[in-house]
Amino acid sequence: MARTVLVTGGNRGIGLAIARAFAEQGDRVAVTHRGSGAPEGLFGVQCDITDPAQVDAAFTEIEKELGPVEVLVANAGITDDTLLLRMSEEQFERVVDTNLKGSFRVSKRASSKMLRAKWGRIIYISSVVGLYGGPGQVNYAASKAGLVGMARSITRELGSRNITANVVAPGFIETEMTAVLSEARQAEIIKAVPAGRLASADEVAAVVTFVASDAAAYINGAVIPVDGGLGMGH
Ligand code: NDP
Repeated sequence: MARTVLVTGGNRGIGLAIARAFAEQGDRVAVTHRGSGAPEGLFGVQCDITDPAQVDAAFTEIEKELGPVEVLVANAGITDDTLLLRMSEEQFERVVDTNLKGSFRVSKRASSKMLRAKWGRIIYISSVVGLYGGPGQVNYAASKAGLVGMARSITRELGSRNITANVVAPGFIETEMTAVLSEARQAEIIKAVPAGRLASADEVAAVVTFVASDAAAYINGAVIPVDGGLGMGH
């Protein structure tokens, strides 16, 4: 059965691969963008997830065009890396406001309609770094670890209503976010990953569509790594 799916930050990178995977299986897919427009075949809504009014307007537009959001993929995220001693209040707040609070805003807006429908899937795109930590990533790791507590609290609140909230935690994926890493850093990462390579965004998308499927109805409050074994044990 076709569903209405919203992927925040689905205009590029991992989010776009996720959006395309849902579209390929016949779902109605909306993506947010901040001015770039939507890629062909996807319904685009302009939305900065740090602005609650824009979040509300985007959901209203999607509800009008495609129906209430049944599957929410909170994927939009940023990094702003620097060592703890150099990290400003602003750098910390901006990353947390986007990655964590932005996810809260879209979850809250989506959940009232999911409750009414007595069905819903919320999937947070976290990171291996959320639980593993990363030098220079105090802000990013804190925001990504926060998504685990968010998903698990939502699971306890809404789990009895056929609503699942899960976290997918990618390792290092070939996107613009990792393209900016130096070759030396990329080689270091590859050495640390048991799989011995980075992953493609499609490998993340395949897990996300599974978690959203009926087959995954009993997976709730889970953290599912897609990291080639990098974070094993957390
Ligand atoms: P990209 O940098 O390629 O894309 C980021 C996306 O987030 C863009 O669509 C961007 O929109 C959107 N975005 C950022 N800020 C906002 C905002 N305030 N409001 C709305 N949209 C926003 O990232 P990736 O595709 O690599 O990453 C996607 C997710 O996966 C992120 O949450 C990231 O933390 C996570 N991740 C990535 C890994 C990797 O190796 N790449 C590894 C682990 C996790 P716009 O086009 O408008 O800028």
